[in-house]
Amino acid sequence: MDTETKLDILMSLAADDHEGRPGSDVVLPPRLRNMRKAGALRPFNLRDVRVGSSGPKAKLFRILMTNACSFNCHYCPMRRDRELPRTLLKPQEMVRIFLHVLARGWASGLFITTGIPAHPVKVMDDLITVLELLRERHAFRGYIHVKIVPGAETAQVDRITALANRVSVNLEAPCGDSLTAIAPEKRIETTLVALRRAQQRVVEGRAEEREGRPRDALLPQGAAGLTTQFVVGATPDTDHTIMGKTVELYAAGGVHHTHFSAFRPIRDTPLENARGAPPLREHRLYQADHLLRDYRFAYEELVFGADGNLPLAHDPKVAWALAHPEQFPLDAFTASYSALLRVPGIGPLSARRLVEQRRASTVRGLSDLQKLGVAITRAQGFLAWKGKRLGAERWKEQLSLWDVEEAQTLGMRNDVFEFSPGTFR
Ligand code: SF4
Repeated sequence: MDTETKLDILMSLAADDHEGRPGSDVVLPPRLRNMRKAGALRPFNLRDVRVGSSGPKAKLFRILMTNACSFNCHYCPMRRDRELPRTLLKPQEMVRIFLHVLARGWASGLFITTGIPAHPVKVMDDLITVLELLRERHAFRGYIHVKIVPGAETAQVDRITALANRVSVNLEAPCGDSLTAIAPEKRIETTLVALRRAQQRVVEGRAEEREGRPRDALLPQGAAGLTTQFVVGATPDTDHTIMGKTVELYAAGGVHHTHFSAFRPIRDTPLENARGAPPLREHRLYQADHLLRDYRFAYEELVFGADGNLPLAHDPKVAWALAHPEQFPLDAFTASYSALLRVPGIGPLSARRLVEQRRASTVRGLSDLQKLGVAITRAQGFLAWKGKRLGAERWKEQLSLWDVEEAQTLGMRNDVFEFSPGTFR
């Protein structure tokens, strides 16, 4: 059965206890009649995601509880003033649909996001009802990731974080003025109250586990951490500012990762004629984020251009290496794990293998390093082996992949879109 067919079945299930039955001749209640018309904003999709930092990918069922919203954020396809077929799933419907997905093995985990059609407290009550039904009535022990909306009450943040494996609280912009410019009804302080409370609950839950409390799959206490999102390029905020805020959030603990969503101008919104952000900028932010989380880089070591953004023409690790010629070539035979991690083309796995196996007589040079996982074409200009340089060419010559102008527009056509990927986080 293809995904489309599965999703059609699921949509028909939403009518189950109303005027129709799953299958043919389904009559959906009025608030669901636009489900098939809602196009890219339709309420379900199935996604492969890696739930932990390693391990196999899991299939996640994503539900958009509603695409109706009482807010009017300038960048958002679901904003109040935009003509859009609206739909709304009730908590019991979402639960029934997800149980159907589980029973057929189409996914093993759930991600719930939503617009804010009513008071945020009511929206949070509905989300909590979904999680309570799944955990308490149906004993669902699997992965749930749920969005917390700005304006949630403290007790609601506590309850939903206790029930979920992961929660997200989307900041959208790194500072109050820029958030208000693109989302006039939002206040960063309100979002930060929810975010910091969720962070605190995750940190406390982890501390309790370290002290011996066994993990309860029905009350995982947000153990998989928190996520947030920034819309990149909709405001004048630079990558320097965005990464600075990201680092501040990481320092307080409990945040698993940050999403960076390149701004796309959406049809029939106040920003329809604004210029979209290059997807490559989003990619560079993710790379810089990986340097902080997985490669032991400090924020102060990231290299930003004069405009405050990460260079587009080469990745942040290469930018750092170019800014530190005194560190290279690095002798891969003697260098520490931390030093190896800083070489373009060497990741945590290949650095670990190198340290463990480089003394073996079978490791003699470039092709053997490749077998250990080193990306030779990128790394060789930065490496030596037993005192002998491995790459004949200087590293600068390896790096002229794109000129800057090309990099700025790479992947970005001046299109106007109907939705943006960030809508579903
Ligand atoms: S960003 Fe969120 S709050 Fe703003 S209009 Fe979109 S769904 Fe509503």
